[in-house]
Order: sequence, then C-alpha cells, then structure tokens
Amino acid sequence: TKKFIYAKAFQGEPKETDFELIEEELPDLKDGEVLSEALYHSVDPYMRPYMARYPVGVTMIGGQIAKVIESKNVAYPVGSTIFGQFGWQTHTIFNPSEHTDPIQSYVLPSFGKHPSSLGLGVLGMPGNTAYFGFLGICQPKAGEVVAVTGAAGAVGILVGQIAKLKGCKVIGFAGSDEKCAWLKNELGFDHVINYKTENVSKALRTAAPEGVDCYFDNVGGQISSQIIQQMKDYGRIAVCGSISSYNLDVKDMPQVPILQPIFVFKQLKMEGFLVWRYADRWMEGIKQMSQWVDSGKIKYHETTTDGFENLPKALIDMLRGGNTGKAIVRSSL
Ligand code: NDP
Repeated sequence: TKKFIYAKAFQGEPKETDFELIEEELPDLKDGEVLSEALYHSVDPYMRPYMARYPVGVTMIGGQIAKVIESKNVAYPVGSTIFGQFGWQTHTIFNPSEHTDPIQSYVLPSFGKHPSSLGLGVLGMPGNTAYFGFLGICQPKAGEVVAVTGAAGAVGILVGQIAKLKGCKVIGFAGSDEKCAWLKNELGFDHVINYKTENVSKALRTAAPEGVDCYFDNVGGQISSQIIQQMKDYGRIAVCGSISSYNLDVKDMPQVPILQPIFVFKQLKMEGFLVWRYADRWMEGIKQMSQWVDSGKIKYHETTTDGFENLPKALIDMLRGGNTGKAIVRSSL
C-alpha cells in the first residue's frame, strides 16, 4: 500500500512538506478481514484542526470510497463499493467487527446512475451535515430568511438548496465572483455576497432588510459576528465549522465584537454540532438526499484532483478556496 504520513506538525497553512509518501507491504488476510483498494479520497477542512491533535508519524486521516478486492467476510463481498474512514492510503486491510464506530466503514447503497464518489459528498458526511445540522438545529420555516457562509463549498451548496426546498429566502456568502454567480444562476440562491470584496454588513442589510432567521455558520470569525448582528428575534444559529480560524494560532485570532446583548434582546439560539451525533440515523440522511438528487431537486458539484500523490496539494487548495462543491481526489491506480 502507498500511504501519506503526517510527517511535520502543521503550522499555519498545511504545506506539501508536512506529508511524506511511503510504501508498505500488506500481510495476508485473516478470517473476517477485508482488503480494499481506494477509488476516491476526500479532503475536508476538519483535517487541519483534527490532525493538530495527533502525533507526527501517524497515517493521515480521511474518508475514502473503495472497492473490495479480497474478502474473508460475507458482509463485504469482493467487488462491493464501500465507504471507509481508512485515511490517506491506497490499500487497507480491516475487520469490520473490530470497528468501534458504526460508520467507520459500510457498503454503499446503490447510487443508481450517479458516481460512487458522491459517497464522500452529497450522499455522505457533508450531505448529512447539511441535512441533519441545518434542519435539526435551524428548524427553518417557509418564508424565513436563511444565511449560509462557505456557501459554494460541499456543505454550503446543500444547505442553501435544502433551504430553497423548504421555501426560504437564501443568502449565500462565498469568496469569488464566479462562485457567487454560479450559486445564483445554477442553484437558485436569492442573494449572494462576495465576502472578500463587499462590505458584508451593508450587503446583507440590502439583501435582507428584514433581518435573518437562520444562520448556518461554516466559517466563524468576523463575518459570523456581522451576520449575527442582523439576526431577527428568535433567530437560530447552527455552528457547523470555523474554517476562518483553522490555520491561525490562538494569539492571531481576530478580536470580534461582544455579542451577548444581541442574544439576550433578540432571544437568539446558537448551537454547535458534530455530524457524528447523527451516526445512528446516517442511512436515513443518505436516503433522503438520494431522493432529492434523483428527482433533480438537489444538484451536486465536485472539484476533482487526479492522482493519489496529489492529496496534499488538493487539501491545501481546498483550504484556500480552490474548490466549488465537494473537493475529492481520484486515486487513479
Ligand atoms: P468546503 O467545501 O466549504 O471548503 C472550504 C471552503 O472554505 C473553501 O472553498 C473556501 O471557500 C472557504 N474558506 C476558506 N478560508 C476561509 C475564510 N478565512 N473565511 C471564509 N471562508 C473560507 O468545506 P466543507 O463544506 O467540507 O466544510 C465547510 C465547513 O463545515 C468547515 O468549517 C468544516 O470544518 C465544517 N464541517 C463541520 C462538520 C461538523 O460535523 N460540524 C462536518 C463537515 C464540515 P471561499 O472561496 O468561499 O472562501
């Protein structure tokens, strides 16, 4: 197997030299074990803060879609396509009965005419993040105003589209004019704001003079404080991610305004969540998202990098905003 080791502790932005590519021989399969070969790897923002908790020398973490190529386990027959939280490696030997986490690996349900890579995006972790996180925490109602940051990314495009399905007015924030135009023209967002070039507070006041009912926060930091200041009474905020600070040292974190009085006087509710909270309802989320994808109600988009050896580059590009929709890497063995 080829694998990427987390070789140097991240400081600031991850660098290609923080990773080391090595090759290892794999042993023969024992009873109950499965050998899989990666087809697609996921690069996700959580890798930056999560890896900071691991010692150097471990295999890089990450989800992958893989094909079973040898099996001594009836639940994982040869030829089946699976999801596995196996990390950045081309081949994996695992014994599903030893997994402590129910979604560490599973055989993918049929995606019909759609590619299996969707199991890393709309029909996988980001899809469930949008589905459960947005509907469960924001509890949107028809006619309400929904703001979403990181709007052109894997989770953001789905939150915005689910909000439209629920009859909401959707305002998306993204980092380029191209992304903003695409969100508006292709995905039907009502308003889009380029947070890099526009005055966020002013643009939001123009787009939603009535204020915001639901805010799905993918980025944290200054933009989030500016949006929260324009929430309506009884507004709900789902705190999904904080990518604006993932590369920063604590000492470099921006000073943001005190928000407590707004929470009191507007009676706001803010809740952070991790999608693993919904592990026991995982397939329910995938089924609902599949139905929406099949009926054309939810569109998906992937930014694909070719070649296992380009995983570090793909991660770095995604953290810099190089992706639209889900960032994935095709293993190309
Ligand atoms: P994306 O596909 O959205 O990719 C990351 C995007 O973040 C980039 O494309 C870039 O878009 C944007 N970005 C980068 N730096 C900044 C910055 N300083 N300020 C604002 N935006 C920035 O990733 P995901 O959809 O996979 O994840 C989105 C968020 O959701 C992340 O914070 C992630 O950690 C979180 N998440 C949380 C989960 C949970 O269980 N709570 C599960 C899954 C994801 P742009 O061009 O717009 O800047």
